[in-house]
Amino acid sequence: MIPFTPPTADQLLAIRVNAGIDVLAQSERFAHAEPDLVEAIVEGVGQFAAGEFAPLNRIGDLEGAKLENGVVRLPDGFEAAYKAYVEQGWNAIASPVAHGGQGLPFTLACNVLENLGAANMAFTLLPMLSVGAIEALEHHGSPAQQAMYLPSLVSGKWSGTMNLTEPAAGSDVGALRSTAEPIESGPHAGKYRITGQKIYITWGEHDLAENIIHLVLARLPSAPEGSRGISLFVVPKYHVNADGSLGPKNDLRCVSLEHKLGINASPTCVMSYGDNGECIGELVGHPNKGLAAMFTMMNNARINVGNQGVQIGERATQQALAYARDRVQSARAGSPDKAPVAIIEHPDVRRMILRMKALTEGARALLYYCAGQVDRGNCGDAAARSRAEIIVPLIKAWGTDVGVEVASLGIQIHGGMGFVEETGAAQHWRDSRIAPIYEGTNGIQAADLVTRKLGLDGGTAMIALFDDVAREATGEPALAALAQDCAAIARWMQGEASLDDRLAGSVPFCTMAAVAVTGWQLMKQAAAVAAGAAPELAATKPVTVRFFLDRIVPEAAGLKAGAVAGAEGLYALPADALVG
Ligand SMILES: Cc1cc2nc3c(=O)[nH]c(=O)nc-3n(C[C@H](O)[C@H](O)[C@H](O)COP(=O)(O)OP(=O)(O)OC[C@H]3O[C@@H](n4cnc5c(N)ncnc54)[C@H](O)[C@@H]3O)c2cc1C
Repeated sequence: MIPFTPPTADQLLAIRVNAGIDVLAQSERFAHAEPDLVEAIVEGVGQFAAGEFAPLNRIGDLEGAKLENGVVRLPDGFEAAYKAYVEQGWNAIASPVAHGGQGLPFTLACNVLENLGAANMAFTLLPMLSVGAIEALEHHGSPAQQAMYLPSLVSGKWSGTMNLTEPAAGSDVGALRSTAEPIESGPHAGKYRITGQKIYITWGEHDLAENIIHLVLARLPSAPEGSRGISLFVVPKYHVNADGSLGPKNDLRCVSLEHKLGINASPTCVMSYGDNGECIGELVGHPNKGLAAMFTMMNNARINVGNQGVQIGERATQQALAYARDRVQSARAGSPDKAPVAIIEHPDVRRMILRMKALTEGARALLYYCAGQVDRGNCGDAAARSRAEIIVPLIKAWGTDVGVEVASLGIQIHGGMGFVEETGAAQHWRDSRIAPIYEGTNGIQAADLVTRKLGLDGGTAMIALFDDVAREATGEPALAALAQDCAAIARWMQGEASLDDRLAGSVPFCTMAAVAVTGWQLMKQAAAVAAGAAPELAATKPVTVRFFLDRIVPEAAGLKAGAVAGAEGLYALPADALVG
């Protein structure tokens, strides 16, 4: 596996042009996000990721996380790298100042994750999940809970997990059965006894952090059925004493680790709570409002998963480029020189390389556009908040589809050497494949787009987005037409289309919308580079943007037929008749 080189210039371009960091720095809240600091962070975390996390990617894949006597162990090097990560303060970038964080924009936290995840996606799930726990407690925890848990979560001394999934409750979280019984008396009076099994819990057990703070969804006695009867609990691995020191171990354990296709260094745990009836947790927020509490952090969590598509795309592209420049095969077709050339000289390999670059840079542009809208929303801009809500399913679904496609192209470029494990190209693809599944499958993202997001602000928010793209796509008729098609489909879905018709067309529509917004954001990058921003990218950026606009945009336009075909054809046969 080749070393990781942080794509600092392209990241800074996206942070400036698509997130609009300079405008954010004019707000009171983010006034300290000055250009020098932004550059220092992007360069610093890139170097850190390349130096500390990237060298562990291969060993993490080969050896993986192992459960030994109830404790999850990681290969040599992980503990030291996590310690260095905590000591250098990377965990605290966007967390609240009141709890030891730096209070910087979410955009910069995205950049920290982008670099770490490109270096080592499986390892980076550890800080990524902690961020979710921090947000849940920041928005819904009591002052006492915040004081007890946030400083150590923010520093990274403790890590966090999110416990939603159960064997019978996957996409349908409302079906979960874990329970929480109020404790009336004794030392834990006012708290709850948690009982249940959770599956697929990322970094649910490990020994890199001193304590693990589990955020667990469970039902109170006589709670309403379904998603309206779910409450959120904070359940520490070790009890925390009033002075902040660690007490005895709570009654929870990792039963087993899943054997997976990829991200082998990320322990995916089956967790059991309350085997002995003594698992103690505290209610976070209001009874039966747990799912709503989870939703406040789910937006950012979904963006962070979309970010993984960018991460794996970057890493796979770097690796494929190195191989394609090195591997010599065949003379260039039609050339009088019959000497064999590096495969990058062949038109089809060029196509694949440029596609990888264009898709990855595009997904990055969309990621930072989305992050910038989140930051504006956090500063009180309601239109930006709505826009971010619409972009979230686009970056989560299309961003992660890009990750898989780019990683697969990376294997193709390696030929047979991509299919054998020793080059590492296969690992990127295996690692990438989870991202379209977790944090709400991409099908669930598309459903969200054509239901809740379609009706935001009375339906105007989505139309306004496509209108912006169409209006600004001057000189790019294909992009303007795609944006107009998206607006027409959105109107059809808002009007005459049945719910089934909308859902049947949701995935192609989601891809069309993502490509339209991405093309628009890439145009802005190309214009900025033409005006002198990022001289390092002056040669490459116009080429990748052209590739995107000339080849990816028309492909997306071709999805319209599927987006408006309706559901009838899908139900032409009953399910049983599809067998055989
Ligand atoms: C490696 C890994 C790590 C994970 N980490 C965590 C974690 O830390 N915490 C946690 O709580 N969970 C975690 N998960 C669980 C993950 O979020 C779920 O796997 C995911 O939400 C899908 O649920 P499911 O596996 O039950 O699939 P199902 O819900 O059974 O879905 C199967 C298929 O049916 C489709 N489908 C289901 N319902 C609908 C519907 N209503 N409309 C349209 N299509 C539908 C889905 O899109 C999918 O294609 C993790 C999973 C994995 C594999």
